[in-house]
Amino acid sequence: MDFALTEEQSAIFDMARDFGAEHIAPHARTWEAEGTIPKALWPKLAELGFGGLYVSEERGGTGLSRLDATLVFEALSQSCVSVAAFLSIHNMCARMIDAYGTDALKDRMLPKALSMETVLSYCLTEPGSGSDAAALKTRAARDNSGYLLTGTKAFISGGGYSDAYIVMARTSDDGPKGISAIVVEDGAAGLSFGGLEDKMGWRSQPTRQVQMDDCPAPAENLLGEEGQGFKYAMAGLDGGRLNIAACSIGAAQSALDQTVAYMAERRAFGQSIDQFQGLQFRLADMEIALQSARTFLRQAAWKLDTGAPDATKFCAMAKKLCTETGSTVADQCLQLHGGYGYLADYGIEKIVRDLRVHQILEGTNEIMRLITARHMIQ
Ligand SMILES: Cc1cc2nc3c(=O)[nH]c(=O)nc-3n(C[C@H](O)[C@H](O)[C@H](O)COP(=O)(O)OP(=O)(O)OC[C@H]3O[C@@H](n4cnc5c(N)ncnc54)[C@H](O)[C@@H]3O)c2cc1C
Repeated sequence: MDFALTEEQSAIFDMARDFGAEHIAPHARTWEAEGTIPKALWPKLAELGFGGLYVSEERGGTGLSRLDATLVFEALSQSCVSVAAFLSIHNMCARMIDAYGTDALKDRMLPKALSMETVLSYCLTEPGSGSDAAALKTRAARDNSGYLLTGTKAFISGGGYSDAYIVMARTSDDGPKGISAIVVEDGAAGLSFGGLEDKMGWRSQPTRQVQMDDCPAPAENLLGEEGQGFKYAMAGLDGGRLNIAACSIGAAQSALDQTVAYMAERRAFGQSIDQFQGLQFRLADMEIALQSARTFLRQAAWKLDTGAPDATKFCAMAKKLCTETGSTVADQCLQLHGGYGYLADYGIEKIVRDLRVHQILEGTNEIMRLITARHMIQ
């Protein structure tokens, strides 16, 4: 057993961290205020191979392991969680197309997705079904050339911004086995979007409803087999959960690093505040919490990479642990900045806001416990 990162893994982490510091961090607040991420950013990330992190090399992807990919998200989140998390969603979709798409679809969509000339969104949630995702109602009716989709998807990251949407839709009434995954391309007839959601965090990412009214998708846009879409959607989420967990750890680490530096400068009662033992203990507790969550995350990623039978359980456990740890640490960092932590200029309040949603999406943390418990008692 070896807990050290290899030289190559350290290089991947450093490359992502340095890119973020130069190209993302200086603009993160402006993008948040504008409610959008400039599309020109994505091809620059793609030049580093981040447009298809775990798309196979034979298809032009980077072919990284899931563990390696968590390093990218941990490092990028030190600059902006919202940007890093959007990249995770794009990568989840690119992987689904690579894994299950027809050759025609891969030929047509993957090159531009890998260069990030186009970005991709994932559409599972509906207004009436979130945690109970298999209760979705969007329908995909067969017609001569493919499918006509009708229904509404809620909370879609990149809604009205992305170039294509992987839509989980019902091709029969057979519960989860009646769900198929179909790619709907921007500009399709009958595709429209709701208004921009006004959110607590992840504000630079546009979130909208995606509405389909007899929206056509050619037959080649079906991923894999009809009726298997829910399985593909859930498989995508195992890795997505690792990435979200990594985003929480990376951003919380950045908050902690800033807090240690701030405490050395800030004086109270005749000394810098890092000299109060009570506060030193809080720093130590945060360090212990973050380091242990990170180690657990990497173990879960290793389980997914090696196809361990309990990988899904470990991904769920890591998602819950890391997202809660990340939020607790970020909130404590805000507290240790006193009133300044509450000001946008110091960057900590943005981290607190951005991390909160990680306990809700990619499956809520209640659902993570449900998955864990089910594996324990079956
Ligand atoms: C900013 C943002 C971006 C998002 N991006 C996307 C996206 O790109 N694509 C996408 O498909 N979705 C996206 N989502 C949706 C997200 O995945 C859902 O919000 C999430 O799955 C929860 O569903 P819900 O909001 O309907 O809550 P509900 O399912 O209604 O849950 C409400 C509460 O009940 C709890 N609960 C529900 N069932 C159980 C149970 N069986 N046992 C115990 N507790 C339970 C939940 O944990 C929660 O606390 C996004 C959400 C947000 C906020």
